[in-house]
Formats: sequence, C-alpha cells, structure tokens
Amino acid sequence: MNLVIFGPPGAGKGTQSKFISNRFNLHQLSTGELLRIEIKNKTILGSKISSIMNSGDLVSDDIVTTLIEKYISQNTYKNRLIFDGYPRNLNQAINLDKLLKKYDQKIDLVLNLSVKLDTIKKRILERRFQEKRADDNEVVAIKRFKNYESSTKPVLDYYNKSNLLKDVNGEASITEINVEISGIIESIKG
Ligand code: AMP
Repeated sequence: MNLVIFGPPGAGKGTQSKFISNRFNLHQLSTGELLRIEIKNKTILGSKISSIMNSGDLVSDDIVTTLIEKYISQNTYKNRLIFDGYPRNLNQAINLDKLLKKYDQKIDLVLNLSVKLDTIKKRILERRFQEKRADDNEVVAIKRFKNYESSTKPVLDYYNKSNLLKDVNGEASITEINVEISGIIESIKG
C-alpha cells in the first residue's frame, strides 16, 4: 500500500509517518527531510534551496518530483511508500499520480490530520528546541501555514473526489492518533 499523510506544518505528519512505517513495514518518504539533507551536505541543490526553505516558501515542483521519483522507481519501495509532505499543491498531486502509474502503482489512502492554527504554533515552537530547524520560528511558521491554506489545502478536494481521503483528528494525543490511523489502515488492508 502507498499512502499520503496530509496536514498543515506541525500537524504531526513526521511523528505519525514514523509510527506507521514501523508498524506496517512501509518506507517514510519526507520531501522536507530529503531537502534538509541536501542543505546539510552542502550540495549544489542544497545551496539553491536553503533560502527558500528558511523563508517558509515551497521549492519548485521539478526539484521535489525528481527527488521522489528516485524512490518510486525502485523495486524495494514498490507499494511501500508513505508520502510525507508531498504533494504540496495540485500540480504535485497530478505528478504523483502520473509517476506512480508509470511504475504500475497508485495511492491507496490519504490520511488528513486536521489541526487548529493555535495548536500548530505551539507545536512548532516546541519542536524548535528539539530539532533546531531553521524554519521553526513563529514568523516563518505563520507563512508556512498560509502557504498550506492557499496551495496545499486545495489538494484535499482532489483526493476527496477519488474517495481516498480519511480525516483524522490531529488535536488528539500521539497515542490516540496512532490507534485511529492503525484502525484505518487495517480496514483498508482488509
Ligand atoms: P516539511 O519538513 O515537510 O515541513 O518541509 C519543510 C520545507 O521544505 C517546506 O516549507 C518547503 O520549503 C520544503 N518542501 C518540503 N516538501 C515540499 C514539497 N512537496 N514541495 C515544495 N517544497 C517542499
């Protein structure tokens, strides 16, 4: 099964993806994480994207699509991917469907973690002390949330039309969310 974990920045997508990947033997594919590795390793790509990421804007669709194709194309990951932080706009959602089709795969489930802006601000500020991410400060967090509302949220309609979408209350505790998500995945696996 391939699944998308969806939600605003700070919704808990990374935490839940890690849990799901361990429990169901899937592979977490976080585009944000892959981009941060480029910056950390001081690659040419890293130098191009660091100011964009630190300001809270999205990097170009081409860059992220190339990164994810490297995984989708490998047999080891076939039907085992959790897309965390991708797609971030409608164009990426369409690209993802095309790419998966090219490698004879599809999306089986989209989990939407819904969380209020106040909770997001609180979580991002807490995470700043743990993960020391350059884009985890209040000003950039608000910008990322606005980008989510304008570019990313419309993708939900796209998935809703294909009946893939399941809403999860992202305000609940980590364990409660784990339980809810596991139930959804089990029911889909049948
Ligand atoms: P994340 O770790 O998912 O919160 O992503 C951190 C940052 O990486 C975002 O604010 C964007 O600048 C960039 N990024 C991650 N995924 C994408 C994507 N699918 N498309 C464009 N930019 C992305």
